[in-house]
Amino acid sequence: MQSQKQYPKAFSFEFFPAKNPDGEAALLEVAQTLSQVEPCYFSVTYGAGGTTRDRTFGAVQAIKTATGVDVSPHLTCIGSTREFLKELLEQYREMGIRHLVALRGDLPEGSDDPRVFNYANELIEFIRQETGDHFFIEVAAYPEFHPQAVSARADLENFRRKVEAGADAALTQYFFNPDAYFRFVESCEKMGVDLPIVPGIMPITNYKQLARFSSFCGAEIPRWLARRLEDFGEDLASIRALGEDFITDMCQRLLEQGAPGLHFYSMNKVEPSLTIWKNLGLSPRRSERLGLK
Ligand SMILES: Cc1cc2nc3c(=O)[nH]c(=O)nc-3n(C[C@H](O)[C@H](O)[C@H](O)COP(=O)(O)OP(=O)(O)OC[C@H]3O[C@@H](n4cnc5c(N)ncnc54)[C@H](O)[C@@H]3O)c2cc1C
Repeated sequence: MQSQKQYPKAFSFEFFPAKNPDGEAALLEVAQTLSQVEPCYFSVTYGAGGTTRDRTFGAVQAIKTATGVDVSPHLTCIGSTREFLKELLEQYREMGIRHLVALRGDLPEGSDDPRVFNYANELIEFIRQETGDHFFIEVAAYPEFHPQAVSARADLENFRRKVEAGADAALTQYFFNPDAYFRFVESCEKMGVDLPIVPGIMPITNYKQLARFSSFCGAEIPRWLARRLEDFGEDLASIRALGEDFITDMCQRLLEQGAPGLHFYSMNKVEPSLTIWKNLGLSPRRSERLGLK
């Protein structure tokens, strides 16, 4: 973890764009409440193939204006064209955005045409070609490996490709096995890959949903934790209490070992991630800004 200790700690919250005006108003309220703890930035997800282009763009603009906090739009390349992405990058530049999360995304079911870009490293190369060093680019990292990876080694090599293409930092898929994260960082160090790798943190609020999503995205829930959460059935209060305890302890351990911040998957809610934030005693003082090139 030595490589990670040199970086300022960045604490951030992730949102997804709302589907209707009520959801948009609710999201702004959540962002305003979370802005009070002075996170380093907010990020807003983006549907593959540009399916949420306008909603992501609108949410980025609204949240930035309402809170004054930096916002980092996510951008996926699969199913997109160069022209489409170029125009969006220009619009973000005009809006004063300096920070992006660059991803491949997943093709919708039934589609097998990636169009121009096959992998995230190609998107990063494209962004650097088009906009030089304007954007601070974050990429995805998978401590438990990407579900489509042919092998752990190949996945690490592919991660290195994204860094060599110009990534400045990485945000991880969420995990409940902190040792997977420590090992991932160690492997990066051995490969000479050195950039902040910020753990993605998923609060536990609903076990059934979490189990379904985790099997899809390749995040393992340790057996002992799964069995205990299962036992609570529909008792959401108990699920939340155990989840809060577990995630707080895990974050504490990650930070003590040198993780360069935490990225909370807020699921557009205040309480689950803010409770952990408060349990950890995070303060604006510890939420230092990532330096832009
Ligand atoms: C922090 C975070 C935020 C996310 N936000 C979004 C979002 O906003 N919208 C969304 O749709 N999805 C999002 N995702 C999900 C992400 O799009 C999927 O996990 C997707 O399947 C992979 O995207 P990637 O950028 O990691 O792809 P890549 O880095 O391209 O990797 C995808 C797979 O291809 C392999 N690979 C990579 N490069 C090569 C290569 N050159 N040759 C051969 N194989 C290669 C990798 O090993 C991996 O198995 C997010 C994930 C994370 C962790």
